[in-house]
Amino acid sequence: MTLCTSCYLSSELPYVRIGKDGKCNFCNAYEKKWKNKDYEASEKKLMKIFEEAKKNTTGKYDCIIPVSGGKDSSYVLYLCKEKYKLNPLAVNYDNGFQSEEARENINSLCEELGVDVRFTGNSWKLLKKVYSTLLKKTGEFCNACNLGIFASVYRVAKKENIPLIILGYSNKIETTPIYENKRYCGEKLLIKTLQPEVSKEELKPFLMRHMTESGFFNPICLPDYIDWNENKIINTLKSIGWKGSDNRIEHVDCLAYPITRYLKAIKHKCLKSTYVAAAMYRDNQISKEKLFEVFEKDKNIKVPENFEWFLKKLGLKMEDIPLNGKSRFEFVSKKPFKAPSSLKGSLEERVRILTKLLSQDLETDGGSIDSIRLENDVLYVKIGGPCKSCYLKHVTLQRFIEQTIVDNIPEIREVIIE
Ligand SMILES: [Zn+2]
Repeated sequence: MTLCTSCYLSSELPYVRIGKDGKCNFCNAYEKKWKNKDYEASEKKLMKIFEEAKKNTTGKYDCIIPVSGGKDSSYVLYLCKEKYKLNPLAVNYDNGFQSEEARENINSLCEELGVDVRFTGNSWKLLKKVYSTLLKKTGEFCNACNLGIFASVYRVAKKENIPLIILGYSNKIETTPIYENKRYCGEKLLIKTLQPEVSKEELKPFLMRHMTESGFFNPICLPDYIDWNENKIINTLKSIGWKGSDNRIEHVDCLAYPITRYLKAIKHKCLKSTYVAAAMYRDNQISKEKLFEVFEKDKNIKVPENFEWFLKKLGLKMEDIPLNGKSRFEFVSKKPFKAPSSLKGSLEERVRILTKLLSQDLETDGGSIDSIRLENDVLYVKIGGPCKSCYLKHVTLQRFIEQTIVDNIPEIREVIIE
């Protein structure tokens, strides 16, 4: 076992590769993309997006912010309203496990900021059927929850004619590994995994592709444009009466979180919080003591206290949930993307070959890479089709495309999805 000399991630963890210089792949990626990021320039880009949204608005609101009651989305709401002077509409989705505390946080924050909020959700009967079927087959159900959130958010956005959707996902901090190193379309995966127990018709409230095909929506991750610092976020939120936990590992907004965390730890043999803690340490946001505290806690993860309650709520028994559930990809029979073993030619030529192959991969889900632009060591990639409006465009899709390109064409430092 080797430890990264910079962030202490262990080489025994999945997806961690430690190079000859003693540093891990996550540290190398951080140094390339985030360490010296010109936030002044990226905030200017953000202002341009906001000006555009204010100018083009046809109704009362100029953007939509999905809120969970947790700190990231709460801070996004605060910044957009107070600093950027936008007029956002907050949208909350109850996944059936929303805590009282989360709802109270949302209500008091929206009242304090003077922001309108819509509460959405699906019937428990449908949620129970979807979650329990997924759990029995794969041992996890976060995909259904994510799609439930965003299908609801997109329905509101469409109805209100608001293209700009602002997310609180930080790619710098949530640099979680891409499980099994493949890309897949979450909606396609959900439909295929749940068949035949749950029909496509029944799943309608979770589906959004019929909306994203128009290319209308513009989802962005606000934390990627500014220096996203946990301590600053918590202090600001507390000063305006936000009552959430200041521990990133405890998602107070979802009561099922300790369960999904536990099940994923067993299935994937790693925890997101381990990688998140390393990312925060790397970015000087937590101390070394705190980092090792998280590592220890993650290594010794225990059965959550509310497991019995959770099983009862879903009408399941412990033995119904496979602890080594099938890989999600078995349901879509998706082949891993393979870059050519040796790319040849000029930089432009290699970029052209690789992006063409990546575009073909996206085409299997109706998406595409429409155009590319190389500026020094940064490659700008324009996405087309339903992927252009997907809420994961700047998250997993960005990571998949960037990682593939940076790993195969060393002259490229960063890929920006447009
Ligand atoms: Zn490292």
